[in-house]
Amino acid sequence: MKTKCPYCGTDAEIYFRSRDYNRNITTVIFDHYRCPKCQLIFISPIPENLGDYYPQAYYTLSDSTDLLDAGAANEQYKIDIIKHFMPQGRLLEIGPSLGCFTYLAKKSGFEAEAIEMDARCSKFLNEIAGIPTVNSSDTCGALKSLKPFDVIALWHVIEHLPNPWETLEAISDKLNPGGILVLAAPNPDAFQFHVLGRYWPHADAPRHLMLIPSKLLVEKMAALGMTVELLTTTDKGGLGWNIFGWEFFFSNLCSLRKINRALHIIGRMVAKLLSPIEKIEGKGSAYTIVFRKAA
Ligand SMILES: [Zn+2]
Repeated sequence: MKTKCPYCGTDAEIYFRSRDYNRNITTVIFDHYRCPKCQLIFISPIPENLGDYYPQAYYTLSDSTDLLDAGAANEQYKIDIIKHFMPQGRLLEIGPSLGCFTYLAKKSGFEAEAIEMDARCSKFLNEIAGIPTVNSSDTCGALKSLKPFDVIALWHVIEHLPNPWETLEAISDKLNPGGILVLAAPNPDAFQFHVLGRYWPHADAPRHLMLIPSKLLVEKMAALGMTVELLTTTDKGGLGWNIFGWEFFFSNLCSLRKINRALHIIGRMVAKLLSPIEKIEGKGSAYTIVFRKAA
């Protein structure tokens, strides 16, 4: 069976079939295709009930910013990357969920706002964290309602969107001249994906609708007048996702809690063993890219 690539329209064949190995919310089998021309990997058809695969427990909320403060240490590297290219200004995060990053951006001097599809997270961000947040799953529509930004950030969000290309176009429209887009996503060129295939935790069916080669993103953004300032798989985030991948691959093998924990530890040991390979630029499980709009 063939289906058209949603990026370039070329006929693509099934690459693998997978299930929700990470969360076991459904036993439905999903078909992943790979475009022979642009190498995009995509689920087809896109499930109509996507919202069902994001359970409430996906997000842990409280009535204070304690959680956001606790998460700050893990987010600091993102601020460091951004400040290198844009020291201040208006910043938008798309898909912040809890909002640890947006909150730290605000504390670091950015005028931070957000677009978030989850109603509870949006309420928390607006009312507790003091981040102006639009609650919408229509990212393009929400973008139109906002003033231009100097920084737009998508941390592991683009792969969840049914319309990533339209979203990237709307983002480039909404950036000020000289503004930057910071985007991190799973890397289909990763060593881990070549080894684990459909069982790769970052394939994350059915939530990850597309695995986009970095080369393709660079090509798309160049067409929108945006150039690459940074492209890496070895920032702190990328290295962390390597460990996450092995831990979850092993712990997904068994649902019994005690065994599961032991498998998690084995995963961490495997990650350590393989880290010399995964630390090679381009081989890591996730890339981080900074694009700049022409001034
Ligand atoms: Zn294609």
